[in-house]
Amino acid sequence: MRHERWAPGRPKLIACPAGGGRAVTGGEHMNQAAPLLEVRDMSVAYGKVGAVVNARLSVNQGQIVTVIGPNGAGKTTLLAAIIGALPANGSARGAIQFAGEASDATDTSIERMVARGMTLVPERRELFGEMSVADNLLLGAFQRYRSGQRDHAQTMDEVFALFPRLRDRRTQLAGTLSGGERQMLAVGRALMAKPKLLMLDEPSLGLAPLIVREIFHIIVELKRRGVSILLVEQNARAALQTADYAYVLETGEITLKGPARDLATDSRVVESYLGLGGRVSS
Ligand code: ATP
Repeated sequence: MRHERWAPGRPKLIACPAGGGRAVTGGEHMNQAAPLLEVRDMSVAYGKVGAVVNARLSVNQGQIVTVIGPNGAGKTTLLAAIIGALPANGSARGAIQFAGEASDATDTSIERMVARGMTLVPERRELFGEMSVADNLLLGAFQRYRSGQRDHAQTMDEVFALFPRLRDRRTQLAGTLSGGERQMLAVGRALMAKPKLLMLDEPSLGLAPLIVREIFHIIVELKRRGVSILLVEQNARAALQTADYAYVLETGEITLKGPARDLATDSRVVESYLGLGGRVSS
């Protein structure tokens, strides 16, 4: 059984299932205030096949937290389980505390989580290609509109201020946008829900390096504006440079966690995720 040992003034130790504990230096993740999101003992299975095992993670208010890991590690599954959007053959158990409210992973739904202030930008972006940029954005505000909040025009202006290129293309069909513009639209649509927590699944996937850089700048800008972010990324270098805190997920288990800066220099992370001799610059 995996457990964490913590003694004041000592580095936090993470014991891996195989017994190889990893020391990660640096401060404690949890500050005095309750975290915005706290996931406890989350396990997810597709049929009888486990995809996530006893995952525990938290995101403090105003933080960027990243989950890195290889293909098929369970990153997408973890986000889907947190927001209550698993495919029909998936089932989750565990506890989710979000914005002061507790829920059971067996009994949650995306509608409820979005209403409570959580949104997900999925890996495949899932835009409506035959609809305009503006209409795709409006869909992001649907739940707020339904609950009587009519501030979508102002929110759209805020999104356009963040992504001027979307303003220029507001009448263009989403299906005709470039890859980078589509990612911006997917993030913009999520922001239309005015989330407390924005979850991003592989925002850099398939994008040119210059656009990746732009997307990561925007993530930092969102944090500056008070949005807390849970970022799943295979681009470990960019993720660790951007995040405050990081988790490594491997074959469904969190094997390492710590302040992102410390993980960026951890020999195993460097070897497995940052390339030989790779270092995240400060
Ligand atoms: P990637 O980085 O490639 O997107 P990931 O870390 O996000 O990978 P997941 O997509 O969560 O990983 O997949 C975790 C495991 O669950 C994989 O073995 C995958 O094949 C399996 N899986 C994912 N979705 C389903 C599904 N709907 N039905 C059955 N198995 C699934």
